[in-house]
Amino acid sequence: MEGFCLAFQHVQHSTLSILFLLLLLQFDAIALQLNCRSVLGAGFAGLSVVWHLLKQSPKELQMRIDIYDEVGIGGGASGVSGGLLHPYSPKVKLLWEGAQCWKESMKLLRVAEEASVSKDCRTGESAEDMKAFVAHKRGILRPATDMKNMIKLNDNVKTCLPSCRVETLNDEEAQSLLPGVCLPFNTAFYMPEALNINSQHYLQALFQGCKNLVKESSTLESGHKQLSLHKRSVHRLSDFEGEYDAVIICLGAKVNMLPEISGRLPLRTCRGVIAHLELPDDMIGYPESGPSILSDAWISVQGPRSLKVGSTWEWKSINSLPNVSTDEATKALLELLPKASTIYPGIKDWVFTGARAGLRAMPPLTTLGSLPLLGCINDVIGRNHTCRYWLFGGLGSRGLLYHAWLGNLMAQAVLSCNEEVIPSELTSWKATEPKI
Ligand SMILES: Cc1cc2nc3c(=O)[nH]c(=O)nc-3n(C[C@H](O)[C@H](O)[C@H](O)COP(=O)(O)OP(=O)(O)OC[C@H]3O[C@@H](n4cnc5c(N)ncnc54)[C@H](O)[C@@H]3O)c2cc1C
Repeated sequence: MEGFCLAFQHVQHSTLSILFLLLLLQFDAIALQLNCRSVLGAGFAGLSVVWHLLKQSPKELQMRIDIYDEVGIGGGASGVSGGLLHPYSPKVKLLWEGAQCWKESMKLLRVAEEASVSKDCRTGESAEDMKAFVAHKRGILRPATDMKNMIKLNDNVKTCLPSCRVETLNDEEAQSLLPGVCLPFNTAFYMPEALNINSQHYLQALFQGCKNLVKESSTLESGHKQLSLHKRSVHRLSDFEGEYDAVIICLGAKVNMLPEISGRLPLRTCRGVIAHLELPDDMIGYPESGPSILSDAWISVQGPRSLKVGSTWEWKSINSLPNVSTDEATKALLELLPKASTIYPGIKDWVFTGARAGLRAMPPLTTLGSLPLLGCINDVIGRNHTCRYWLFGGLGSRGLLYHAWLGNLMAQAVLSCNEEVIPSELTSWKATEPKI
């Protein structure tokens, strides 16, 4: 009898333990499920959201972030972009919330620079070299191209930011920065703090920064964070139903290809080609601190013997392939080189080495400019969903400027499940019917 009681107690004890274990597992599963986020797209928008989600989530929160991208880091427009970064319009007018956007971009750039320095694989170089791996701090020169344009530019520089100054230069001053530069109206506007970023290096380094945050979270006594990149195509949003509590859509110009979204966003697409040029060894290289140039065509300086010249604007194209055919490259060169040589005649000595292209997602023009589209889109895609779908798109031709601050706001909105933390200027597109 005693033996039976002991055996019974033993069974009871193990059953309780199993039940307790199951309960724990269930709690763990619920905790994980409650904090599963998926970010679609690994361009400027996607990686900025990931970094801010990891940075802002409470330490004790368990969180899993899955990134889905069919190509990998920087597979879309971000990876090919000219990398020019400043808070002004082509007429040097401060853009909507330009100060905030500039400040946050600088912060994220520092994160990437620090991560690139910390990368194990990049040893043997000085910290400064590794920072240049992400960004070139050589400023941008904007020449006045006609009289009307000069009056406008002169007016606009009065409201420039102290953190990204715009100086008015005469011909002599411009020549000392960039010998041989040609100013049609003897005046140029110089932004000494403006940058050009190596987009691919920046994105790789920012992703490294995200992985570093995850690593830090596992060494602290806090909720564990997980981050995975899945190189996979996304075909429909419904595939994510049930597994995630939030899906953040950062698919750039290809967002319209999802069946649930197609035709519901006020976005237009525009393909741009960029030509890559190099200088032969027997020629004197571009000056060490010579600025990039912003004019009818721009020149983004990658190094003393490497330039990018951009960009074409092919509206309504849906071709997002980065590869450029010989025909397309020839057409682009015929358009870009005459424009570039008006300001920098020395370009004739440079040799074409290849071209890349990307598809921009262009938002509608408002009285405040072309503002990206953000917000929770469950009401846009209809039906009842167990998960929240968020859109971070329409970065147009200024993704570098917008991605950091808006990624920060998007992360706040997702973590608090509250769209109202996003300024209404960025969500008001939902109130108007798209004119497709
Ligand atoms: C030629 C050109 C030059 C530019 N120059 C500048 C510049 O100098 N400065 C500047 O600020 N901006 C520039 N831009 C604009 C800038 O590149 C964009 O604003 C920015 O890249 C948009 O970022 P994104 O993350 O929204 O989209 P993307 O960078 O396009 O990222 C979307 C990601 O989603 C992935 N994806 C898409 N569809 C799917 C799918 N179905 N399944 C899985 N993954 C998918 C893609 O592979 C891609 O990695 C330029 C753009 C172009 C085209």
